Amino acid sequence: MICRVCGGIMEDRVTDVPFKVGDTNIVIVKGLPVIQCSQCHEYVLADTVMAGVDRILESVDKAAELEVVRYAA
Ligand SMILES: [Zn+2]
Repeated sequence: MICRVCGGIMEDRVTDVPFKVGDTNIVIVKGLPVIQCSQCHEYVLADTVMAGVDRILESVDKAAELEVVRYAA
């Protein structure tokens, strides 16, 4: 897979990714499997992973400004 930003090689990695929820909330998902560019750190998520992230983001406490959640496949 080739990076759509810089043309670099995309590789499978497991990393921590922050997601913005609403205007003021940030959820950091730890241990997330992503496909990330080796050059510019652009990343994409597989559909199944994206669905899992959606579930996490729906379930977090919206009152918390910052929440850290571990991804579980
Ligand atoms: Zn790139």
